[in-house]
Amino acid sequence: MSSKEGQTVVVIGAGLAGSLMAILLARRGHSVQMYERLPDMRRESIPAGRSINLALAARGIRALEVAGIMQDVEPLLLPMLGRMLHDPSGAQKLASYGQRPDEVIYSVSRAELNRVLLDAAEEAGVDIRFRHAAIAADFSRGQLRMRDEERQHNYELPLTRIIGADGGGSALRRSLVAAEAIPATEDLLAHGYKELTMPAVAGKHAIANNALHIWPRGGFMLIALPNLDGSFTVTLFLPHEGAESFASLVSTGKVDDFFRRHFPDVPALMPQLAQEFLAHPTGIMGTIRCAHWSVGDRLLLIGDAAHAITPFHGQGMNCAFEDCRELDDCLVQRDSWQNAFIAFERRRHANTDAVADMALENYVQMRDTVLDPKFQLQQSLAFELERRFPDRFIPRYSMVMFRADIPYVAAFDRGRIQNAILSELTRDAASLADVDYDAAARLIRARLPPIS
Ligand SMILES: Cc1cc2nc3c(=O)[nH]c(=O)nc-3n(C[C@H](O)[C@H](O)[C@H](O)COP(=O)(O)OP(=O)(O)OC[C@H]3O[C@@H](n4cnc5c(N)ncnc54)[C@H](O)[C@@H]3O)c2cc1C
Repeated sequence: MSSKEGQTVVVIGAGLAGSLMAILLARRGHSVQMYERLPDMRRESIPAGRSINLALAARGIRALEVAGIMQDVEPLLLPMLGRMLHDPSGAQKLASYGQRPDEVIYSVSRAELNRVLLDAAEEAGVDIRFRHAAIAADFSRGQLRMRDEERQHNYELPLTRIIGADGGGSALRRSLVAAEAIPATEDLLAHGYKELTMPAVAGKHAIANNALHIWPRGGFMLIALPNLDGSFTVTLFLPHEGAESFASLVSTGKVDDFFRRHFPDVPALMPQLAQEFLAHPTGIMGTIRCAHWSVGDRLLLIGDAAHAITPFHGQGMNCAFEDCRELDDCLVQRDSWQNAFIAFERRRHANTDAVADMALENYVQMRDTVLDPKFQLQQSLAFELERRFPDRFIPRYSMVMFRADIPYVAAFDRGRIQNAILSELTRDAASLADVDYDAAARLIRARLPPIS
């Protein structure tokens, strides 16, 4: 059936990806019903769930622009120019993310962003039903089993043109895996995370609010992203088990001691540290990979439901938004839902695999290598090479975060080649002045084709 005429489409999950996809579908003239397990966050206060604030970057921004809602999101954004690295002595050093004025990323509240998306979805004509949860897809009967949490009863929807955006724990994906319709793996990380608050001081941020703060400590790290109200959301990433782990931090004394030893500049800024630590849940993180995401024209998974990744590149939401833009494009280009779903999978699969790998690599970089002088020299050299060879050499972080026109897989592949070049050029160099730029030109021209 044509994907261009106005048809009924069901979106499961009114989170970030589901809401944006619903807006795009409604704007193409489809009749969109969106079902969300939780109550309406605009009317009831519900916990933000995973990650209170997020880093929004070019890919996410481009999708929000295509949907016509970037102007509503802009007032929610706080620019972050780089990583503010805190060493164990308390000294701070800003490492810029990019080298052009617009090469920044933005801290945004998940809840506020979701509210803007829900408002825009309703304005676009989306029929949103809160407290309705998908239970499972039943292929033998061609039905999607649903539950109305308000009235406490189950019902069914026809299993056709369902967009599954129900997040990393997706009930839809799990039912597809159980029915052997979609093979998938879920690799949980041995590290978890805990979110804490650094409150505002007299209404102002206690530390610089134009950076993403990182306290890298080898096997673990603390990060902080600013909020508009002057507070920071602080996240500890730490192994679940072991000597220094969530399992070992079970009392006020142990938490205070841990922070005093590893992050001595932090406790004075977080008066509720130990109480919050013991009260807040420890989150899990992992990577989900599916062999494919669609079943005929019945159903397609997008966002975290299809390919959840670890948060260390700040790309899960950006990637999910990019999914929405790409699917919208595939629906316009193809003549049937099934062909559009297949085209979407072909475009996205290698890209989501690449960003999953880059996110895992970035964890090691953020918690460990950022403090290594050789790494810092290579970062400076990467900017220098970008200045000298802008059509061929762009630092990988910049390709991922600032260049929505460069696919993740190209950033990943070029990034590998660039890393080898950076290693060769800095093998015997202690500063940029020691680098052989003739050799750099030869290596770059031989190994890196111009960026198309
Ligand atoms: C600690 C942490 C930090 C992060 N930081 C960043 C960052 O800086 N930048 C970034 O880009 N990404 C970040 N991410 C990733 C980002 O949170 C996710 O990639 C993003 O939320 C994915 O959006 P989604 O809509 O696919 O899923 P979700 O946002 O999880 O939305 C899923 C929605 O579906 C609903 N739902 C669930 N089950 C059902 C059901 N059975 N029926 C109906 N509805 C259902 C949920 O209630 C929810 O509303 C971070 C993640 C974590 C854990």
